[in-house]
Amino acid sequence: MQNHWNEGDASRCATDLALRVYSSRLIGRDTSMVLHGGGNTSVKTEEPDRFGETRRVLWVKGSGWDLETIEEAGFCPLLLDHLIRLAQLPALSDPAMVEELATHQTRAAAPAASVEAILHALLPYKFVDHSHADAVVSVTNTADGEARIREIYGEDVVVIPYVMPGFDLARAVASRFPLEATPRTQGMVLMNHGIFSFGATARESYERMIALVARAERYLQQHAGEIKPPAAPADIELPRLALAELRRDVSREAGNPMLLAANRTAQALAFVRHPDLSRIARYGPATPDHVLRTKRLPLIGRDVAAYAEAYRHYFEEMSKRAREAKTMLDPAPRVILDPELGLCAAGRSARDCAIVRDLYEHTIDIILAGESLGGYRALPAQDIFDVEYWDLEQAKLKKSGKPAPFAGEVALVTGAASGIGKACVDALLARGAAVVGLDIDPAIERLYERQDFLGLRCNVADGAEVDAALDRMLEAYGGLDMLILNAGVFPGGRRIEELADAEWRKVMAVNLDANLALLRECQPLLRLAPRYGRVVFIGSKNVPAPGPGAAAYSASKAALTQLMRVAALEWGGEGIRVNALHPDAVFDTGLWTGEVLAARAAHYGLSVEDYKRKNVLKTEVTSRDVAELAAEMCGPLFAKTTAAQVPVDGGNDRVI
Ligand code: ZN
Repeated sequence: MQNHWNEGDASRCATDLALRVYSSRLIGRDTSMVLHGGGNTSVKTEEPDRFGETRRVLWVKGSGWDLETIEEAGFCPLLLDHLIRLAQLPALSDPAMVEELATHQTRAAAPAASVEAILHALLPYKFVDHSHADAVVSVTNTADGEARIREIYGEDVVVIPYVMPGFDLARAVASRFPLEATPRTQGMVLMNHGIFSFGATARESYERMIALVARAERYLQQHAGEIKPPAAPADIELPRLALAELRRDVSREAGNPMLLAANRTAQALAFVRHPDLSRIARYGPATPDHVLRTKRLPLIGRDVAAYAEAYRHYFEEMSKRAREAKTMLDPAPRVILDPELGLCAAGRSARDCAIVRDLYEHTIDIILAGESLGGYRALPAQDIFDVEYWDLEQAKLKKSGKPAPFAGEVALVTGAASGIGKACVDALLARGAAVVGLDIDPAIERLYERQDFLGLRCNVADGAEVDAALDRMLEAYGGLDMLILNAGVFPGGRRIEELADAEWRKVMAVNLDANLALLRECQPLLRLAPRYGRVVFIGSKNVPAPGPGAAAYSASKAALTQLMRVAALEWGGEGIRVNALHPDAVFDTGLWTGEVLAARAAHYGLSVEDYKRKNVLKTEVTSRDVAELAAEMCGPLFAKTTAAQVPVDGGNDRVI
């Protein structure tokens, strides 16, 4: 545990709120204390209201903000005295508490306050810091956790038994804290939850947090010794189909497509192959904060249906309450531990998967530490359900938008670094899909820095490279729903009498043979797609209307179109839809430099602008136009269409 306080940086903070932002970020950058929006901080200030009267304000972290990157706008100012009065009520339902918080903030545009706001209000210190530090939770989540915490901290912290976050926890603190706090008190430990520190200054509160967590870390080092899972056996080949089957099963129980990210690092494999896995992983998440993100207990093995059945059965009480709320928690697992597949994280988006994976990696550390302290103890299942159910209630209070049409689905685009392929990547990302882009140009690897995009340098005509790329796709997202066959080459014009075999074969290898291989390798994945697979072939106007000097290109695209029609016939029985579109004269691609365009326009005796619109509608066709149609062909509009060939060319009089 490192103290990152820098007095120079701190002295540049002119206000209490600026200091609050500064030290919140120091805590946020330490992943062993807070992860993905976990933890929260606050500061109490005074400010005049519209009438010049002074009022006390609690600035508390707003939901949706991460401590690591928080700004002043990420804090919600609340009327402090109102919160303190609320804590004296004998009871307050969670929706009523959320209502009180929302109607007692002093800035309309502020984010919603953390549900731990009342707790912050109650602690009689200017600065309050709260984290779910792994080391502290590792100690609290053991059979004799409370005794150990008291052994570590003595009178320096107040200990509060586990109570679900929300009003009841604030009540518990309101009644216990004043009785147990002494002048020595520097912090508060919430069992199975985390730790608070506080102080008169931002520095005091921050440094107490660091020191308190460091004491738990030292205790673990002394009492738990070296915590290492047994070494994992040598790695095995990625079982692609098993992963895609697991994703299909999870999606089925979730009621919508889900992504599945497989973590097969040495640490993850060692844990999922732990000889005692079925006992140590039987417990659920380590803290309520984790429950909100990883949800429920992990599935051990791959029997998703049995897990879902047990989940429904176990939470009969939940079902009743969920029915009352006219909604249902889906019974699909979010964490799956399988000796062969590794640690798999399921989620509706790549970001959700990453959060689940990161949190469970920390859970593994906490479980192993707890085990070496004599036995890990997680929250009881009923408490886990209570938190999850409560989260559902909170979600209902927020206005939830319609999910993106391709949320939870995976698309593979070839030739994705530029032109139509890149535009397809954009169109699919915009519709919520996770996208894997392949291109022979290494620039593909840096096309986008985002969790829902994976750019892989790959020569699609090389079977081994395609095989490796499909493995990467499966590890990242768990399957394949949409395949956009776009990669192709267009050699310069050459008449048949001058066309060499080598050039002919090269065009066929990329435009035709590579696509056959891709289709063959992807079919087993597409047939497992939760909403059935879709394939879009980027054909060409040259198929219905070939041009002189393009024998190899036109023949390859015509053969590709015939391949599309056969695929539609062969795979229709499995629900896989296969369609083609035929673009023409798309000039915003790398192929068409200004010079080439000018030369072609001059050849026809036209201006460049007129040349670009040389079609029936006199309109320019862009990469984006083609990509939007390709994406729509994967969507519900084309749900009943297969083997279609749709032109996207502004109308061509030779075709019409
Ligand atoms: Zn908390």
